[in-house]
Amino acid sequence: MRASNGEYYGAGDPFGVEGDFITAPEISQMFGELIGMWLTDLYLRQNSPGNCHYVELGPGRGTLAADALRAMSKFEFAPPVHFVETSEALRAQQLQNVPLATFHERVESLPTDGPLLVVANEFFDALPIRQLILTHAGWRERVVVRDRGTKFAAMPGSYPMDGSVPAAFQNSPVGSIFESSPDAAAIMYELSNRIATQGGAILVIDYGYTQPGLGSTLQAVKAHDYADPFLDPGTCDLTAHVNFFELANLARMRNLVVAGPTTQGVFLSALGIGQRALALAEASPDRREDIFTARDRLIKTGEMGTLFKVLAAHAPDWPAPEGFGGPLA
Ligand code: SAH
Repeated sequence: MRASNGEYYGAGDPFGVEGDFITAPEISQMFGELIGMWLTDLYLRQNSPGNCHYVELGPGRGTLAADALRAMSKFEFAPPVHFVETSEALRAQQLQNVPLATFHERVESLPTDGPLLVVANEFFDALPIRQLILTHAGWRERVVVRDRGTKFAAMPGSYPMDGSVPAAFQNSPVGSIFESSPDAAAIMYELSNRIATQGGAILVIDYGYTQPGLGSTLQAVKAHDYADPFLDPGTCDLTAHVNFFELANLARMRNLVVAGPTTQGVFLSALGIGQRALALAEASPDRREDIFTARDRLIKTGEMGTLFKVLAAHAPDWPAPEGFGGPLA
């Protein structure tokens, strides 16, 4: 999965109607703007600490950052910008939208001299997962093999992995799959450590689950449709649902305060997407219908509103963030 997605994102821009999938910031400027306001609100209520850094993980085209930074600049909040991005092709595109961005291969090289305000939209789902499957002989890792030398396929490996499965899942039916993302956990742990000592907050938006469970969530997406993850690796987007339960617990282990997870619909509605849409529609009456359609796509149940979850974690001496627990518009 790591190799496949490295190849896939390295090849260039997969976003938009012409591409393979559309993300929230590409649907409407409102998404990035509201996140920019969310960050500004935290910053102002923390009495505008010096040396704050805007950090984004996997920024795609850089659209979210450009919209967020524009909204933040209205409040004279213009922190240095750090992008954690492995794709050279996407780095080039991000620079077009955010010319002053500094790039990082990994979170470890992020600055240590001030609070980090971290945004991750549809980032964690792109990280490689590990799956364990319960066979008649016990839990085994699901490994990828060549099926008769042609197609790739998944099959149980030969080493016992029982020790890596939580006690609650040990006695499951044969064929059960336990999924985890060691990369996601390592990144969340490192960032939580940094935020605990440097100050700041992290905002994670993605599709995922909020309670631990069993089952495979591996998916391949190509041209806005599901594809076979084992066919043509590197040519489609491989994703897995994000384990918000674990991300929240990792943040708590480093003494961060967690807000959520809530749904994207609740979050954006509480931040005022309804009012923002009305203001934009008033300014551009000819785009009125498009603006309201975009708003609905982002917040409605059955669209992105409930599938996508939002989790925030902040340093214990930072204020509680807005957007959690508000009513659905
Ligand atoms: N946040 C963007 C793009 C989401 S797609 C949006 O909402 O539109 C996933 C992004 O993560 C891409 O920019 C991809 O190149 C990047 N990415 C994937 N794996 C990564 C890794 N291990 N480290 C850093 N960036 C990664």
